[in-house]
Amino acid sequence: MKQIYYKSTRGNEKGVTSAEAISRGLSADGGLFVPTSIPKLNIQLKELMRMNYKQLALTIMKEFLTDYEEDELKECIHKAYDEKFDTHMIAPLVKQSRTYFLELYHGPTLAFKDMALSILPHLLKTAVKKLNNNKEMVILTATSGDTGKAALEGFANVEGTKIIVFFPEQGVSEIQKRQMVTQTGDNTFVIGIKGNFDDAQNGVKQILTDDNLLEKLEEKNSMFSSANSINIGRLIPQVVYYFYAYTQLYNMGDIKIGEEINFSVPTGNFGNILAGYYAKKMGLPIKKLICASNENKVLFDFINTGTYDKVRDFVITMSPSMDILISSNLERLLYSISGQNTEVIKNLMEDLNVNGKYEIDSTMIKELVDFYGGYATEEDTSKAITEVYKTANYVIDTHTAVSYAVYQKYLEETKDTTKTVIISTASPYKFTPDVMKSIDAKYIGLNDFELIKQLSKITNLDIPAGIVDLDKRPVLHKTKCEKDEMQRQIEKILNL
Ligand SMILES: *Cc1c(COP(=O)(O)O)cnc(C)c1O
Repeated sequence: MKQIYYKSTRGNEKGVTSAEAISRGLSADGGLFVPTSIPKLNIQLKELMRMNYKQLALTIMKEFLTDYEEDELKECIHKAYDEKFDTHMIAPLVKQSRTYFLELYHGPTLAFKDMALSILPHLLKTAVKKLNNNKEMVILTATSGDTGKAALEGFANVEGTKIIVFFPEQGVSEIQKRQMVTQTGDNTFVIGIKGNFDDAQNGVKQILTDDNLLEKLEEKNSMFSSANSINIGRLIPQVVYYFYAYTQLYNMGDIKIGEEINFSVPTGNFGNILAGYYAKKMGLPIKKLICASNENKVLFDFINTGTYDKVRDFVITMSPSMDILISSNLERLLYSISGQNTEVIKNLMEDLNVNGKYEIDSTMIKELVDFYGGYATEEDTSKAITEVYKTANYVIDTHTAVSYAVYQKYLEETKDTTKTVIISTASPYKFTPDVMKSIDAKYIGLNDFELIKQLSKITNLDIPAGIVDLDKRPVLHKTKCEKDEMQRQIEKILNL
């Protein structure tokens, strides 16, 4: 089997193993680790069709993580995709009134982040063992709401780790916030910052590349890593469910082997959709990856003009996990579409840093054909929830609604009849105020916990275990800080 190595998108890194890339999180030059080639699936597509989620995960992931022993990977996969998920399907594809939804929210924290964050701690622990460095891992995480809780859940009480999460005080839903601040486990730290997700992510990136701080940490025999999708260990597990959606469509009898399909992906940091792009590169028959943005439509503008411009107002929307103006993983796409030209990436990132924008050339623009960019306004999003409820009696969350709404625009514009899977990233239970008021105005004004009960009533489904009693759990994390105080908070926690 071909060995896969990992390099920085910005060039200053010789190829490292996946274990090293995963344990470090971010390259020292500020670039993101990328596989130097995307492996091709080396078995026939039809052989995947009977595999369950775990078997498929092993088949896909071993192509990327070539330095992990097969037994090591198997163990990680078995520990990750178990009863923590409320269905043995792990990621069921459901058909509702002719639309396909890939439900990625059956994990413990009710959002798609569990798909990767239930396995990342195991990949990381195995990596540390493989590298034989015996260091304590300090996991730094910025969150727009869902990564934080999923990472806390994954790393709580994991020996040899500390997990520190920064979330925007004003930028997450009430349920998301409660999930995080009630987290138990002596190794967990949750801090609200006075800023938005971009501020939190920038702070984390700065800290991860601060030589002075890294040295002090080294003296304590500790090292930083990250649970954000800048960590390649977050992305690779996500490739799996694109294949899994395909096998389910086939098993429903709705496609033939080799038939192309589309995915509509609600996008923020470009991690989820990039995993879809990697799946396509591996050989999954994907026609279009529909990149669905909310009103923070930097990606829509980029795909349609070739110019990325973050200088604009940050909009707080009803899909807060996509309220992002600096889409980190786009840097990995640029690496691919520039023909792995790290000089080009370095310059583009410098432009972004200095001028707040960059422009790609026409050759790179041509490479964006795999994508369609669209966006949904707040009104579109709310209407999508109403429409799906009315036509299918099925409740979708505000993020899934963005991908549904953008798919409708795509359909109207292109008349493309290719079967399309809507990537469903969160349970409606996490965003009840906006979901329920889109269903019926009579729910306006009820509090989140009352709405949870109402939602359970209209769907006839039990309240998911992850949030039942959430209002009764004690608040254990109360720290808040300014956005430029993140480093100080870390020094305090770690006694540096
Ligand atoms: C994180 C998140 C997204 C965006 O995913 P990216 O990988 O950042 O593009 C969309 N929906 C939900 C519910 C999320 O938690």
